Amino acid sequence: MAYISGKTLLDRAWKEGYAIGAFSVHNAETTRAILKGAEEEKAPILVMIGQKVINTMGLAEMKAMVDAFMANHTVPVAIHIDHSRQFEQTMAAARVGFHSLMFDGSGYDFEDNVRITKAVADVAHALGIGCEGEIGKIGGVEDDIDVDEADAMITSVEEAQEFTNRTGLDYLAISMGTAHGIYTSEPKLAFDRIREIKEIVQKPLVMHGGSGVPDDQVQRAISLGIAKVNVDTELRQSFTLGVQDYWKDNPTDFVLADSLGAGEVAMKEKVKEKIRLFGSSGKASDF
Ligand SMILES: [Zn+2]
Repeated sequence: MAYISGKTLLDRAWKEGYAIGAFSVHNAETTRAILKGAEEEKAPILVMIGQKVINTMGLAEMKAMVDAFMANHTVPVAIHIDHSRQFEQTMAAARVGFHSLMFDGSGYDFEDNVRITKAVADVAHALGIGCEGEIGKIGGVEDDIDVDEADAMITSVEEAQEFTNRTGLDYLAISMGTAHGIYTSEPKLAFDRIREIKEIVQKPLVMHGGSGVPDDQVQRAISLGIAKVNVDTELRQSFTLGVQDYWKDNPTDFVLADSLGAGEVAMKEKVKEKIRLFGSSGKASDF
């Protein structure tokens, strides 16, 4: 096993000018797709466990499953809880050994978001793991969070600075014009704002809604201070299309290892493509 603090991963990537892929797991095959893709690219990654899968499969169960498959891998990995909106759940993740905690207080008022995120950051630092906070609302749909795209507000420099200073977080998710889920029109990222926030905050920044953002925009955002890019939707699409294609060709094959295995192979290729795009291919040896 090669587990590592999310903070160690992101601090290094941020200094070196590349980004770590944060990829969501949903079952055994998607876990293998991500870990094998990272291994083949010799890349450090974050394995994300999100709200939907926590609600359906269980937090400790998903962590144990990733642990089981990690026994076969050597690349640096941090297991990350995505969009936790309750202090108790965030602590449950810490208790079972996650290496990176996201508390998403963007639905709370500012003072409550500061107070709870600081409590999470204090625990994370006592445990030697990383803490992500969020300021500003990110558009689209993710798990049980639904923010109207029109209401998605670009994070201001002032609130990013105050939030970071008062919470002591390690990496900051900002609203920069991306959205969760599938884009209905091409996203337009607020590049100037990313740069301004980076210059003031001096911490790694996180892009949510990384699926479907054009490659050149992703790379430009990384060059301006994004050190973690979350990808879920595109990976689920590639997995599902892989299974569909298999069933098209083999409509009477009900061996799930075959059909889900085809999904795994398709998703692994997408993971590798993203790792190369983010510049983290070959970076496992940095750690
Ligand atoms: Zn997100």
